[in-house]
Amino acid sequence: MADSLFKAFTKHSCPEWLCPACCRPSLDIVLQTFHSEITRQTRMERNESWFDSDNVRMVFSCLLKCSRPSCLETVAVSGEGRTERFVTGIDGEDEDMIDLFSARAFFPPLPLFPLPQLCPEPVRVQISEVSSLLTCHPAAAANAIRSLLEKLLDDMHVPREERRKGKKARALTLNERIVMNPELLGINQQGIMALKLIGNAGSHGSEAISQEHLEDACHVLELLINQIYPQPSDASHQIARLQKAFGKKSV
Ligand SMILES: [Zn+2]
Repeated sequence: MADSLFKAFTKHSCPEWLCPACCRPSLDIVLQTFHSEITRQTRMERNESWFDSDNVRMVFSCLLKCSRPSCLETVAVSGEGRTERFVTGIDGEDEDMIDLFSARAFFPPLPLFPLPQLCPEPVRVQISEVSSLLTCHPAAAANAIRSLLEKLLDDMHVPREERRKGKKARALTLNERIVMNPELLGINQQGIMALKLIGNAGSHGSEAISQEHLEDACHVLELLINQIYPQPSDASHQIARLQKAFGKKSV
């Protein structure tokens, strides 16, 4: 499983994020592009008597590069940093300071997880939209999850309208589409409903949505996508090996 896009890192250790081009966990920080500076507020406060290294806040930018020679994709990243105190030594009496950084924006957006081959393009595009908003705008990411659900339901042939005898068809809400179609959604109904709830919270602003909620939503989304679009089993390697070993002998 790929690391969360929220994972904090040092400038010498890139999390196991997936390359946007080859979808492998092969991104490295290009060290010479890494640049960080303290914020204006830290500069103003750092000479105060109460100021501690824990109060240091920074901004940073850098490039990531895929280490696979056949790929070499490049990603631009920016975000914020802080200094954290770590207790070290056998007796825990020593302490060390370390600069930790958290990404807020990636371009191009990073894959949240590998997508199955059968996942349709509108769903792929919307998952990428969720990824691009996840770390910089939680409420917008939650809203994008809501739009993603509508596209997923379309692809699962869940109707958008309720036909009524002698009357004009009525548009169904997302909640109604989920609740009224348990036979079409099967084991995915609960997960889809959970994602709908975080989507609703998105319309109430960022404060209701924590990093943990979004990470949970990404795990549920990965599970759903893999259940709805299962990877077809492929035994071609084994078939080829058996044919090579025994094919001629049996003729
Ligand atoms: Zn790559």
